[in-house]
Amino acid sequence: MLSIEKKMIVADSCLEYEPKNEFFMYSGILPKSCANCVNYRDSQCSKDLFNNICNNIEKN
Ligand code: SF4
Repeated sequence: MLSIEKKMIVADSCLEYEPKNEFFMYSGILPKSCANCVNYRDSQCSKDLFNNICNNIEKN
């Protein structure tokens, strides 16, 4: 299970992030997070980007 904080940090650095609901996203109601991304399915990134982004963040 990925932590809420990690999902927010990764989504913030992800170029493929696409909010599930743009209205709520851009109105500031929903935070930028993998959990709120259309590519997040079955508790994982369907584009398989999460681990790479996470590793890059940890290196910096
Ligand atoms: S679910 Fe995947 S595509 Fe969406 S923000 Fe997270 S890492 Fe990026």
